[in-house]
Amino acid sequence: MNKRIALFPGTFDPITIGHANIVERAMQLFDEIVIGIGINSSKSTLFDIEKREAWIKDMYKSNNKVRVVRYEGLTVECCQEVGANYILRGLRNMADFDYEKNIAQMNKLIYPNAETVFLMCDPAYTPISSSVVRDLIRNGGDASAYLPAEVQYKHG
Ligand code: ADP
Repeated sequence: MNKRIALFPGTFDPITIGHANIVERAMQLFDEIVIGIGINSSKSTLFDIEKREAWIKDMYKSNNKVRVVRYEGLTVECCQEVGANYILRGLRNMADFDYEKNIAQMNKLIYPNAETVFLMCDPAYTPISSSVVRDLIRNGGDASAYLPAEVQYKHG
């Protein structure tokens, strides 16, 4: 049987415990998870790509089922490059669903070899998003409860 390889694409600016929960649960379903950090030159981020990548690599350094790549361009092209036959996304609410539905259907049209799989967010993680975390950080709040221990933004 083909290896089940899932690409988990996102901006991860920064990665949160909500993302980590999706990865952890997806580990039961897939043989390999490739976390793909999408680089979108028209989208400015709070944390540079080096930091975002280093944090995620650090989190999964002793996990041989998870690896991290950066990619530019289409998510389905990244799927092709890494050999992913699944695209993994998390859903928190109806707004996520509306947004994700179109992307998943378009991805299927242009690249039928990859099936998008959605994991419903565990209830405790529903309010957690990278954008809320960034707002907290920008305004001097403490976001550490929502971040994996490896994400040490205060110390560079
Ligand atoms: P993007 O910019 O592509 O939306 P993100 O890094 O914000 O990238 O999110 C990547 C994926 O993680 C998306 O599928 C998003 O719905 C999911 N996600 C983000 N936060 C959570 C959370 N708290 N619980 C479950 N899934 C989440």
